[in-house]
Amino acid sequence: MSTFSTRRDLFVLPDGITYLDGNSLGPLPKAAAERARATISDEWGPMLITGWTRAHWMDLPGRLGDRIGRLIGAPAGSTIVGDTLSIKVYQAVASALEMRPGRKTVLSDSGNFPTDLYMAKGLLDSLGKGHDLKVVEPEAVSDAIDDSVAVVMLTQVDYRTGRLHDMKAITAKAHACGALVIWDLAHSAGALPVDLTACNADFAVGCTYKYLNGGPGAPAFIHVRPDLIDQVRPALSGWLGHAAPFAFDLDYRPGEGISRMRVGTPPVIQMAVLDAALDAFEGVDMDALRARSIELSERFIAEVEAGCKDVTLASPRDPHRRGSQVSFRFPEGYAAMQALIARGIIGDFRAPDIMRFGFCPLYNTSEEVSFAATALIDIIATGEWDRPEFRTRKAVT
Ligand SMILES: *Cc1c(COP(=O)(O)O)cnc(C)c1O
Repeated sequence: MSTFSTRRDLFVLPDGITYLDGNSLGPLPKAAAERARATISDEWGPMLITGWTRAHWMDLPGRLGDRIGRLIGAPAGSTIVGDTLSIKVYQAVASALEMRPGRKTVLSDSGNFPTDLYMAKGLLDSLGKGHDLKVVEPEAVSDAIDDSVAVVMLTQVDYRTGRLHDMKAITAKAHACGALVIWDLAHSAGALPVDLTACNADFAVGCTYKYLNGGPGAPAFIHVRPDLIDQVRPALSGWLGHAAPFAFDLDYRPGEGISRMRVGTPPVIQMAVLDAALDAFEGVDMDALRARSIELSERFIAEVEAGCKDVTLASPRDPHRRGSQVSFRFPEGYAAMQALIARGIIGDFRAPDIMRFGFCPLYNTSEEVSFAATALIDIIATGEWDRPEFRTRKAVT
C-alpha cells in the first residue's frame, strides 16, 4: 500500500476509467467542485462587486503563487498566478531580454513545447532588433551556451519523451556565460521536487492544469528570482501590475515585487478551483511523491517490455533522467492509443509515433499500471489497434 493511496479519494475518477493522462489535464478534485459552487453561489451571487475585497478575490493571484511556490522551491512573494502559460513565457522572455541589452540570442531546444518557441519567435520579430531564436538538440544545449546568449529558455521535462534537463547544471553554465535562464515547469510542478532557489533560476513559468489539477484553462504561474524582481520591467504592463491600480493614473508604474507580473482581471472562479485543487498537495513530501512516481513508471516499463517487443521506449531508461511520464514509440501509436481509450485506459498520443502515459502518485495505483501494461501488450499482440475506427484522427489528440 502506498502512503498516497488515501489521496485517491480526493479525486473524481469515473468508474471503468484508468486515467494516465494527468500530465495533460489533471482529474477533478472533489474539493474543487464544491469550491466552484461556493464561489459562484456564496460569493459572486450575494456579494456582487464587494467580493473583490470581502471574499479576497483580488489576493488570489499572489496567494496561489505562494502555494505553488512551496512546491517548486520558490520563496513567498516570488511567484504569481494569472493568464496562460504562453503569455507567461512571453512576459519572461521580454523581461529577461531587456536585462541583457547587448546580446541577441535566445537559446532553446527542439524538445521544447512549440508554443514556447512560437511565443519567443513572435516577440523577437516584434522587437525588430535582430534577435535570433536558436534551437538546438536537447543534448547540445549546455555546449551551445556562450557569451552571445542573452536568455536560455527551456522546459525541464520534455513533453514527448519525459527527458529531464539538469536545471542546476544548465543554470550554472548560463550564469557563468552571463546569460539568464527561464525554466518552464509545465511538466514538473506537482510531478517532482523542484528547487528554484537551490538552482538560482532567474525566471520560471508553468501551468496548473497538468499535475496541479487546476482544471481546463486554469491559469499559469510565473516566478522571478527575488533579487531580480525590482529590475524587471513588465512588458505586458496591464493595470493590475501597476503600483496603484485604483489610482487610475495615466502613466504606468510597475507594482512592488512580483505583483508587477500581473496583467488584468484574474479569473476568480478558475482560481478558486485551483486553490481547492492545491489542497491535495498539503502535507505531501515531494521526495516521497517522486519515489512513488518512479516506482510506478519502472513497473510500467518492465511489464510492457516483458510482454511486447514491438514498442520502443522513447523515455530515458534511467528514472532519474525522466519526469513522471513514460513514452513508447509504436509506428501505429495513434491507433493503439485509441484502442486503449476504447478499453477505458486514457493516455495520449503525440506525433509522429509517441504513446504517452503519465503517472500521478496522488491517485494512480500499481494495479492501474499493471492493468494498462497488460492491455497495451494485448492490443498490440492481437492487432486490435488495426480497426478503421481507431485509425481515424480526432482534432485533439
Ligand atoms: C502544456 C504546455 C504549454 C501550454 O501553454 P498554454 O498557454 O497553457 O496553452 C506551454 N508550454 C509547455 C512547455 C507545456 O507543456
